[in-house]
Amino acid sequence: MTALPTTADFITYESVYLPKNHFIKEESLPTEEYLTYFYHFDKPDFKKNGVESGWSVTDREGIAITMAMGNAPQAVAMGLQKEYAERYDWLVKEFTDWAFTFMTSFLYYMDYDAIDEQTRSLYRQGISAFGGIAPTYRIALEKDSPVIVWDFHSLLIMVQMCFSFMLTDKDSDMRMCKHCKKVFVASRKGNEFCSQKCKNQFNVYKSREKKKGIKRDD
Ligand SMILES: [Zn+2]
Repeated sequence: MTALPTTADFITYESVYLPKNHFIKEESLPTEEYLTYFYHFDKPDFKKNGVESGWSVTDREGIAITMAMGNAPQAVAMGLQKEYAERYDWLVKEFTDWAFTFMTSFLYYMDYDAIDEQTRSLYRQGISAFGGIAPTYRIALEKDSPVIVWDFHSLLIMVQMCFSFMLTDKDSDMRMCKHCKKVFVASRKGNEFCSQKCKNQFNVYKSREKKKGIKRDD
């Protein structure tokens, strides 16, 4: 959640600026007030002093983490403080959003012919609320060719972005079962069901419905 502000180095500023998000309504707030969202129990030893702002770490684990993180943005260091905590209801909300986005992106196409334009528009609006700030990146010269290196400064952004790439990638293996609506990884291209059992059941229901339909027509 340290990824909410517009910059990963927010602790050196007097205020944080927040793009639209599901958790904090204010567009900006004093940095120290923002920090209180993450320290509900013990308060860290935090010194606010422009670019020199930071956490003073005295215990061995803390020092080891600080050294290992090297030049990582301070938002990363913040999340690794012993006293750092995230609100349970925020986590639930985040996971619910991912699930909603995932379901919507499948149901929209699955049900496209069966729903009216107004419902389609609701689907589109629902999913357009999903997004995030993009991480910065740089180019690194690897052994054989240059590659993009994303500088993720929070796990949230990393998951969100990889998830978004998978959702929009036609060759992605991530699917929703046409029968039980559970998420699964397709072992073969074009797999629509999570298991043979679901495939069989779906076909049984379908043929039953067909029979009913024929009877009604009679
Ligand atoms: Zn299934």
